[in-house]
Amino acid sequence: MKIAIIGTGYVGLPTGVGFAELGNEVVCIDKDEGKIDKLSSGQVTIFEDGLDEMFSNNVRSGRLKFTTSMKEGVEIADVVIIAVGTPPHPITKEADMRYIHEAAEELADFLQGYTVVATKSTVPVGTGDEVEKIIRERHPQANFDVVSLPEFLREGFAIHDFFNPDRIVIGANSDKACKVLRELYKPFDGKTQILFVRRRSSETIKYAANAFLAMKIHYINEMANFCEKAGADIYEVAKGIGLDSRIGHRFLNPGPGYGGSCFPKDTNAMAYMGRQYGVNLSLIETAIKGNDERKTEMANRVREAIKDVADAQIAVLGLAFKNGTDDCRESPAMQIVSELLKYNLRLKVYDPQAMENAAKILGNKVTYASNIKEVVDGADVLVLLTEWPEFKEINLEEIKDLMNTPKIMDLRNLLDPQKVRNIGFEYHSIGR
Ligand code: NAD
Repeated sequence: MKIAIIGTGYVGLPTGVGFAELGNEVVCIDKDEGKIDKLSSGQVTIFEDGLDEMFSNNVRSGRLKFTTSMKEGVEIADVVIIAVGTPPHPITKEADMRYIHEAAEELADFLQGYTVVATKSTVPVGTGDEVEKIIRERHPQANFDVVSLPEFLREGFAIHDFFNPDRIVIGANSDKACKVLRELYKPFDGKTQILFVRRRSSETIKYAANAFLAMKIHYINEMANFCEKAGADIYEVAKGIGLDSRIGHRFLNPGPGYGGSCFPKDTNAMAYMGRQYGVNLSLIETAIKGNDERKTEMANRVREAIKDVADAQIAVLGLAFKNGTDDCRESPAMQIVSELLKYNLRLKVYDPQAMENAAKILGNKVTYASNIKEVVDGADVLVLLTEWPEFKEINLEEIKDLMNTPKIMDLRNLLDPQKVRNIGFEYHSIGR
């Protein structure tokens, strides 16, 4: 099939590469000229495991192309996938729909023949109706259907998740559109549950799923706080509750709070929708507030650890919102760093992939190290903020020699408490 993807970011690019790998002809469109220049010259613009090689293979085969021209991609497409950003509105925190509306306006003129316009961005309920109206007004003769095609990929596993999704949800109110999407997802037939639902149900599923996962993280973080006070161990508790198949083991890892470009924004957007519809979504509201406060609480723990040291130097390992990605959007690590900077503390930071993105936000307010040894050199406390596997393997003896004071705040519970303490560190972690 011929596919146009509008928006070539963390979702659009892996999706484009994935569909090309399945044998489709894919044109990825972005209005960011710099991004398209890089991609056209063979440079992958995000860090994702397995993306580079698949990207190169498909560019070479001619199945994957990049352009800034809406016309070039849309006029030949059977399916146009909208994957632009839906960031939070700075004041109301509702999803800012400006990019979706612009994309709908811009693509409308170039629709030719029957085309399915699929919204992959995470969008408020009713967006399908809006997109349909925008296109219809702009191009009354266009022959098209609008469907909702929510994306559930996890950053860091985008390629894996494209080919092995837990489910594919398709929200379509037209049989004709369902037929086209059945064809598009034929390679997944029999391997993955493909769920056809009403368009508004599909739009709701995405927010309901993310809000549930965010609440699960917030729940285990609150339980971790409880364990710290009550002398219990959160891992024993998580194991004990996770063995109940109604609860399950996943998403029961305590940490510095949920973050990233999705959970904070989507919980806020869902809460906003609840208020709009006059529906009480108090569980979600509580998780949002508690998760926001958690970052400050974590920064306070770090401040407490260095309170007796004049002009303390803090070593930060990890800036990305989780391992496997260079994405720093709404990263708990970045929020904790920003909180610490309010107190004019000296911070040296290192992340294996996210330095460039972090530097765009932190500027010259911190010192950047180029490896683990450099970041801990002369530090009074080491703070672990992203769960990169290599941080689990750090050479603790070497680090102890380099540090001013052997103190670790492990806010991701990466290290073995006994081992760290035996080497002579003062060690603090979460919920145990
Ligand atoms: P992103 O910011 O990485 O990428 C969006 C891209 O869209 C940018 O490159 C931007 O230049 C481009 N764009 C904006 N308007 C455009 C237009 N009119 N024409 C062409 N290009 C345009 O965003 P993302 O992280 O890929 O997220 C995209 C959507 O997918 C969001 O709604 C997000 O909530 C949702 N989502 C994201 C993830 C994730 O893990 N990042 C997972 C599931 C769903």
